[in-house]
Amino acid sequence: MDNLMNQKVLIIVPHQDDEINIAGSMIYELTKQDICVNVLYTTNGDYHPYEANTRLKECILSLDVIGVAEKNIYFMGYGDTWKGETHLYNTEGDEPLISMAGRCETYGLPKHPEYRFIKSGIHSKYTRNNYKRDMRDIILDIMPTVIICVDFDWHWDHRATSLIFEEIIGELLKERNDFKPFVMKKFAYAGAWEGPKDYYDRPFKPTILPFEKLDKRYELDVPSYKWDSRIRFKVPTEAKTPLIRNNIIYKAACKHKSQMVRFTINRICNDDIVFWLRRTDSLTYHAGINVSSGNAKYLNDFKLIDCSNVYTKRKNVDIFDNCIWIPDEKDERKTITFFFAEPKIVQSISLYENFDLICHIFDAEIDFYNGYKIKTGELINSGEETIILFPEQKNITTISVKIMKYVGKKPGFTEVEIFTNKQRPNLSFLKGDYQSDKTSSLTSNRIRKTMEINYFEILLLIARIKRKIKRVYKNG
Ligand SMILES: [Zn+2]
Repeated sequence: MDNLMNQKVLIIVPHQDDEINIAGSMIYELTKQDICVNVLYTTNGDYHPYEANTRLKECILSLDVIGVAEKNIYFMGYGDTWKGETHLYNTEGDEPLISMAGRCETYGLPKHPEYRFIKSGIHSKYTRNNYKRDMRDIILDIMPTVIICVDFDWHWDHRATSLIFEEIIGELLKERNDFKPFVMKKFAYAGAWEGPKDYYDRPFKPTILPFEKLDKRYELDVPSYKWDSRIRFKVPTEAKTPLIRNNIIYKAACKHKSQMVRFTINRICNDDIVFWLRRTDSLTYHAGINVSSGNAKYLNDFKLIDCSNVYTKRKNVDIFDNCIWIPDEKDERKTITFFFAEPKIVQSISLYENFDLICHIFDAEIDFYNGYKIKTGELINSGEETIILFPEQKNITTISVKIMKYVGKKPGFTEVEIFTNKQRPNLSFLKGDYQSDKTSSLTSNRIRKTMEINYFEILLLIARIKRKIKRVYKNG
């Protein structure tokens, strides 16, 4: 199963060019080894309506450079940004919406229509339910073993794609036993599109912790992530050439002419490519849950965060809501009980505390069906995963978690995961065992480096002016 040849990969992004931001060199590395890579775009990138056709064609050309066949490209055909106050993600199921481009149903290119039209001969009306159904059906048609999806950064379409994806995964993990893909998430902006321009630095630099943040008090935009728990993959030498114009990712980026993606390659390309792994093998997806109070569904919905208005620009974690199990203040038990239909072997439990820094759990008690008990001690106070390891417990049909000592009015969890295997899944089959690479040995020729950068900046300036003129002209 972990054999590379058996893998089917799906990349899920909102816009034509985000695939380069989140997975460019990974896509190239995989297709080079004949692995089937599929790319799904949720929107048509049609914020400027006249750009849709161009962007859809550009991504086909760009993906061709890094080895993805056109038949493996899926357009969902939804709008880039929505008219009105509410994003599609935050509307009620069947409420119809109009996109910024003035469209009300999905579309693609004449020669490469959107998924729903190819599959069913109809276009999907722009509703939340249809968006979710289309993405879900594509995932089920492909049945990928590895999924790389954009994560929650400041762009509302990135947020919507990420959250709907997680909602679907949460449901599929519960519904099906034959579906446990490796899921990796990645910010398209933080650390990539908006990363430092360090391409010309020698030795070649690894990705660094993003400096643009939603909330300064947390390491990353998803408060539950730690920088140290990122997984790093080696980047092929073709993606870190001394001269940027020889770089395969730069060549792919050049095909995204309308978005001038080639000018961000000096931000995107690094010595490594990093992701955050979300485990899909938690026993909680097939467990019944009882709680002494509060909303149990947040505990195993796969979502670590949620947001009732993805358009909101506030710069702190208060934008996250409807994602935390919080027992009533007056509830003296503050207990969750998980039930399994079949006896399970359990070796580790992950607790993701409420990321609100004012609330903090100092002790919780975990009770197993067989009488085994553990005290967790203090959890990590920022929503990060606290991993509780213990000797293998067999024949477990119930596990309860009781909050014992805490401060703040809302102690609780965004997610609880229970595992039979204490080890995180091994992704070395994807070349995930990163070793620092000393091949970037271009002598640090400062004059040459300065010339390269200046040349690049001048080209960027000219391209920006050209694009401005084009937009003014096209928008009348
Ligand atoms: Zn985007």
